[in-house]
This record gives sequence, structure tokens and C-alpha cells, in this order.
Amino acid sequence: MSEGIALHWRLIQPRYNLIGTECKTCGKKFFPPRNICPDCRRKSEIAQYQFCGRGEVYSHTIIRAAPTGHEYQKPYVIAIIQLEEGPFVTAQMVDCDVNEVEIGMPVKQCFRKIIADSAEGIIRYAYKFIPVKD
Ligand SMILES: [Zn+2]
Repeated sequence: MSEGIALHWRLIQPRYNLIGTECKTCGKKFFPPRNICPDCRRKSEIAQYQFCGRGEVYSHTIIRAAPTGHEYQKPYVIAIIQLEEGPFVTAQMVDCDVNEVEIGMPVKQCFRKIIADSAEGIIRYAYKFIPVKD
């Protein structure tokens, strides 16, 4: 694999797909991906791992003063989400009332546009989360 493709995988793929790594030796999951397990060290057997995208709100805060480029969507909620597999991710909550988000709320990953960069013609996406209403 070339340097460029490796970098692409490391930087871009995790943002789109919640791809992390798993230590096959002890079963721990890592996000962002790690190349070595802190517990198993030299015995680590690391493999790519696709997280299921479900979890629950661990902590959250409402952002009322949005940074440049985000004005169109304020106010919004940034939450720390604990994935079902254990790791924590920080992400924006969408498709919900800002006052509706609470600790322990079940959520799932979805894809949303973050910023349309007209200068470069690039539209950036990232994982965001929506409430699970079953
Ligand atoms: Zn391990």
C-alpha cells in the first residue's frame, strides 16, 4: 500500500465510517484506530474493526454560538457518545430538539454534511448521531 493510500485510510475512512481497530488478543476495540493494544503490547494482534454505530449519550452540551461556517444550524448539541463496543466519540447530534438530548439516550450514527467548502468545491462529511426512537 502506498503512503498516500495509507494516509487516506487513516484520516478519511474513520471519519466516514467509524472504522477503528480491534485487538484480537483481548477483544478490546479502539476508536480512533490504534496500531497497538496498551494491554497486550507485543502480543497485540490488531485488525480493522467496523463499529455498529449504536451507542448512548454519556454527556452533552448545547452550542449556542456557532463557529464560522456553522451559523446555519445553531444552536446544536455536541455529545460524548459511548459506543456499544466501549469507546467514546464526540459528535454532533442532529434531527432532534436541543433540549430533548439527555444522558443515557440511545443514539445511532448517521451521515450529514458539515461544511460545503466552495473555494475547494469539497463537501466534508462526518459521523453524526440521531436519537433512536423505536
Ligand atoms: Zn489487547
